[in-house]
Amino acid sequence: MAGVRSPFAEEPMSRSPIFTDIDYEREGKQVGFLHLPYSPHTDAWGTIPVPVAIIRNGDGPTVVLMGGNHGDEYEGPIVLGRLIRELDPRAVRGRLIFLPAVNLPAVRAGSRVSPVDGKNMNRTFPGDPLGTPTEQISHYVDSVVFPLADAFMDLHSGGSSLDIVPSVMMQRPEDAGLRGRTLDAVLAFNAPLTVVMDTLGERRTSSAAALARGLVVIGSELGSAGAVSLDGLAVCERGVRNVLHHLGVLPLDPPPERRPTRLMQIVGADSYVFAPADGIFEPFHPLGTWVEKDQPAGQVVFLDDPGRTPVVARFRRAGYLFCRRAPGRVERGNGVCVLLNEYRE
Ligand code: CA
Repeated sequence: MAGVRSPFAEEPMSRSPIFTDIDYEREGKQVGFLHLPYSPHTDAWGTIPVPVAIIRNGDGPTVVLMGGNHGDEYEGPIVLGRLIRELDPRAVRGRLIFLPAVNLPAVRAGSRVSPVDGKNMNRTFPGDPLGTPTEQISHYVDSVVFPLADAFMDLHSGGSSLDIVPSVMMQRPEDAGLRGRTLDAVLAFNAPLTVVMDTLGERRTSSAAALARGLVVIGSELGSAGAVSLDGLAVCERGVRNVLHHLGVLPLDPPPERRPTRLMQIVGADSYVFAPADGIFEPFHPLGTWVEKDQPAGQVVFLDDPGRTPVVARFRRAGYLFCRRAPGRVERGNGVCVLLNEYRE
């Protein structure tokens, strides 16, 4: 059939719609935006302007520093903003690519998920150039930014629903060489806790996508309950600078003396405790406590029915109490506690 050939027929379907004046190859400091075309009711021909900054000085590794993957986690974006403003390009060897508010609509809303498409960015990788705004941003990060990079730091905090002990996180690469280099980098971060996670088959996170591209990937969990933590900010700034020094990007910035860190891991599904009923979860233990198997973790109480017996939730293994649900109100199935155990290779 000799139909009219679409003028878009030669367009690669995989090309990102995002455009920018930023030049990833230029020396010095640039601060600007990645413009994602977006056409809602209130703005027919506009864009979502995702902030980006590049600091480049000569040869050296490229490190991507990301915050705002979840829009209610603030320590990473605050520290990255400070580094963008304060770092002198002459102190850098190589290139820093900052994406401090990567899912901008979620950051503007102070929300874990984006208000424009309801998506949790950290379940959208490797993204889709023809998908929703969150998927289009993930696609750009995966297909344009990651191929430029040697290492990737995705700075998370507990967000609105979790209280968590400040920590640096890594997913366990299968490749022993990459695993060793990643472990060296997370230990260099020097948070009070160093946590090795199993991905449990989850491939839609930024970290899993970066790992699939062979990058050294470093994560964090810094603050709690959607607040800004002074302790979390200090751990974050020190940790990011320590890792950049370790990777050779900030060679003139000697790290302070190392403090002790505990190297731990989330062992498996029995490390999690879930709410056994709808109600209010009354926790029994402060974060950082060592707990035993079958010990009560807390109980769900019924404020509107005080004569009703509370429903107890128990730990399914012994461990260190790493994380707890922040809001009191729970539904059956909400995560209320997460335990850590010592890391074994
Ligand atoms: Ca998070």
